[in-house]
Amino acid sequence: MNLLNRFLKYISFDTQSSEESDTFPSTLKQHDLADYLVNELKSMGVTNAFKDEFSYVYATIPGNVNKRIGLVAHLDTALEISGAYIKPQIIEKYNGCDIKLNDKVHIKVQDYPFLEKCVNHKLVTTDGTTLLGADDKAGVAIIMTVIEKILNLKGNHPTILIAFTPDEEVGNGTLHFNYDYFKVDFAYTIDGGPINYINYENFNAASCEVKVTGKSIHPGSAKNKMVNSLMVAMEFDHLLPAFARPEYTEGYEGFNHLNDLNGSVNETSMSYIIRNHDIELFEKQKLDFITAQNTINQKYGYNVISLNIQDSYKNMKELILPRKEILEYPTEALKYFGYTPVMEPIRGGTDGARLSYEGVLCPNLGTGSYNHHGPMEIADITDMNKMVDIIIYMLSLIK
Ligand SMILES: [Zn+2]
Repeated sequence: MNLLNRFLKYISFDTQSSEESDTFPSTLKQHDLADYLVNELKSMGVTNAFKDEFSYVYATIPGNVNKRIGLVAHLDTALEISGAYIKPQIIEKYNGCDIKLNDKVHIKVQDYPFLEKCVNHKLVTTDGTTLLGADDKAGVAIIMTVIEKILNLKGNHPTILIAFTPDEEVGNGTLHFNYDYFKVDFAYTIDGGPINYINYENFNAASCEVKVTGKSIHPGSAKNKMVNSLMVAMEFDHLLPAFARPEYTEGYEGFNHLNDLNGSVNETSMSYIIRNHDIELFEKQKLDFITAQNTINQKYGYNVISLNIQDSYKNMKELILPRKEILEYPTEALKYFGYTPVMEPIRGGTDGARLSYEGVLCPNLGTGSYNHHGPMEIADITDMNKMVDIIIYMLSLIK
């Protein structure tokens, strides 16, 4: 099967994960794509391919050099919009104009300048009513095509381990990852955007739950007695740096993000996330929360604010940089095909970061797909095919 047909087949499976679930994977329909991939691998001759009880797919393609390299992609699709009954539109040769998805929805070149790089390429879009699921079925299709081609080539390559994981979009893609099986020198997630982008930096991340305990009393007799927890919550927030918020930051700038607030006079709770690429600045941001807490508690003379700060994940940069060769292989492969590699920090987390901290060093490579998590998602089939060649060449460099 060629890469386009493979991709179209994979997106015909609805594999949307869910945050409202007690099962693992969070949606049982992810098993269907996992089963399909195991069968496809077996029909290619990868007889050791298997799916485990958690819907992870694993397989090993024996090599003829000593190294063991992992390739990882995720099965599930984003929560924001349905990935069921996708009606893909194929553009055989993109002409550089705005793309009409339906009468109401257009992908405009002026909004998405990356489209200039897609001219003359074969693209797949949605009909504007669902997502496409290129995140990360483009990654799955690329890896499957790499495996198919490598099995038909005579060249040298390392032993390749593949893992397709469920529930990445709900942050649980590595929860039941089988590290005992996945013994590799290093690995790559294939879960990014443009094919010349390499990501090896992500945020350090923490959450902070703030509880404000007020003193409620009838407003008519409240003088010098009431402590309105809603007002104290606002006071607390104003003690944090005003411009360290998502809406004011980009690139390497960190932020604190208030994403939930609930309360009454008596009690208010707030949920923040804390993000920074730089570990020292990240620790300083956490300290800002504690300083604000102390300031307010001193002012009111009792523990009006209590905090619960929990680390979520860490920047994999500290682990990847000492092993420069992990970045040099994709860099050299991209240059070989005439691309300029771009090292872009991820403003979020990645399964690769969690894998890295469990010993599977794992930067992220591009898939040639764009506008993830929405109906304007685009898969650039021409670039996806190129990425197959880039990965095969990259693997041939690893000795
Ligand atoms: Zn993804």
